[in-house]
Amino acid sequence: MTALNDQVPVAIVVLGAGAIDTARRIQARYPGSLVHGLESRVPADVAFTELGPHLRELYAHNTPIIALCAAGIVIRCLASALADKSFEAPVLAVAEDGSAVVPLLGGLGGVNVMAREIAAALDVAPAITTSGELRFGTCLLNPPAGYVLADIELGKRFVSDLLAGATTRVEGHAPWLNAADLPRAKDASLAIRITPHTSEVPGELMIHPRCVVVCVTALSSVDSILERVSQTWREHRLSPMSLAAVLAPLSMIASAPLADVAQALDVPLRFGTLPAGFETLESHDDGIVIALAPQPVDPTTLGQARGTLTVIGLGPGSADLMVPAARRALTQADDVLGYETYVRMAGPFAPHQVLHCTDNREEMQRARHAFELASTGHNVVVVSSGDPGVFAMAAAVLEALDEGRDNALWNAVQLQVVPGVSAALATAARAGAPLGHDFCMLSLSDNLKPWVVIETRLRHAAQADLVMAFYNPVSRARPWQLDRALDIVREHRSGGTLIVLGRNIGRPGETLTTTTLDKLHSSQVDMRTMVIVGSSTTRSFPRSNGDGDWVYTPRWYE
Ligand code: SAH
Repeated sequence: MTALNDQVPVAIVVLGAGAIDTARRIQARYPGSLVHGLESRVPADVAFTELGPHLRELYAHNTPIIALCAAGIVIRCLASALADKSFEAPVLAVAEDGSAVVPLLGGLGGVNVMAREIAAALDVAPAITTSGELRFGTCLLNPPAGYVLADIELGKRFVSDLLAGATTRVEGHAPWLNAADLPRAKDASLAIRITPHTSEVPGELMIHPRCVVVCVTALSSVDSILERVSQTWREHRLSPMSLAAVLAPLSMIASAPLADVAQALDVPLRFGTLPAGFETLESHDDGIVIALAPQPVDPTTLGQARGTLTVIGLGPGSADLMVPAARRALTQADDVLGYETYVRMAGPFAPHQVLHCTDNREEMQRARHAFELASTGHNVVVVSSGDPGVFAMAAAVLEALDEGRDNALWNAVQLQVVPGVSAALATAARAGAPLGHDFCMLSLSDNLKPWVVIETRLRHAAQADLVMAFYNPVSRARPWQLDRALDIVREHRSGGTLIVLGRNIGRPGETLTTTTLDKLHSSQVDMRTMVIVGSSTTRSFPRSNGDGDWVYTPRWYE
């Protein structure tokens, strides 16, 4: 049993290299979790510069936190951010060497469950301090996945009554309570009742199994479906909390109103047919069936989800130049496709995530494969470096979809493109602001376009005095193209025109060179280089730290 919503990645926070082994052991226990490292001390999946603000931000976003440092440090950092709310994500302190696991906050968010999980992974005993849990061996207020506690305030009172000596009955099927050490008595006035139905009997702790499925087979309006559902709740005295999922036939997979219905009901939307074993509670002419299972229903076992395909850009290389939406898509991915170098760069991955690494030239095949995977309900991510729309996978994915326009399954996939920091922008930022005025981006690769087109564009761009960013300037298969391109530029620009060369920007071994058009030689450039050719107004001046020049193109024009 795990108390965590799979959508929220756990943050494992480390302050030094001494904690990294323990952090990685914990990470293996939580797929999708990320190790956050103090930038000045330890490289990790996510870098941060100051512990206090970083912990407070994670806490504010309800991210479960496992901090590998003294409990006191975590308490001091979070004290000012503590909110009075009935739900907060788990916060734990773990000793660097893995010898102690201390749950601190998030009792109702399952912190003790996590403490037990982490302690089991580290082979130590967790420091559980919650009296109800110690006494009864379970947290009554935090039932396992598939069950929901109806009223937390009532629950707290119930537990204090038990701690004060009251006894209870258990009514209904609660397998996890069998192992608990509850003060049971057959004639007790208090009762723990496990049922999808509501009850107004005082002194009853209601726990609802999520065992109701709303099946929609024909689409009326969102409002009429919601009205039909709440009518069923009323007539059958069902708790809305017992709803497990909305289920619809595969033919309705792209329906936006259905997505609105599921969102309004706050449950997963699945597509397929209802498995055997359900009792039909209501069947309406307007295509709505309400079905009840004898046990909680795991929504992932009902048909399939609507698949997603997210095309992301990783930025130039370093994790801090990747946009958070891209990181989120990677965390939620079932499958990741891309050129091997980029897929490796996008890691680390959890064991359940499937990587599909292909050669750089197989873009169309990769795009089609991505749609095939996504149309079976997977969350698929296609990675590019930089921005996915700049000489990269987004256009290939759209081309595949355009070709497959008759493919209903492909069209049902929820497609999204997440932008990234393109190499030209990353290089420009390192140099200063060479793209501060009008500029263009050109790929010098003639793999997919005739060389004459490139020459024509270069000539026009050079004549128009645009700053130019050259992508794919050379490769082993294209040795002469850059020299030819520079010859064309030299016909229109003076020898003193500023040139910025960014090599492996944001990656290990990054270099930045500023030179001029007359001094530039193609041997200084390789396929990992971004070449920015200045305009007639691009200028430079020495940096005050003596570390080369700042280069910029003024916003105005003479
Ligand atoms: N989609 C990518 C570009 C892919 S084309 C983007 O938006 O950045 C590949 C070319 O981009 C390389 O030949 C090189 O010219 C440039 N490039 C990509 N990453 C780079 C980096 N980290 N540093 C310098 N140039 C890079």
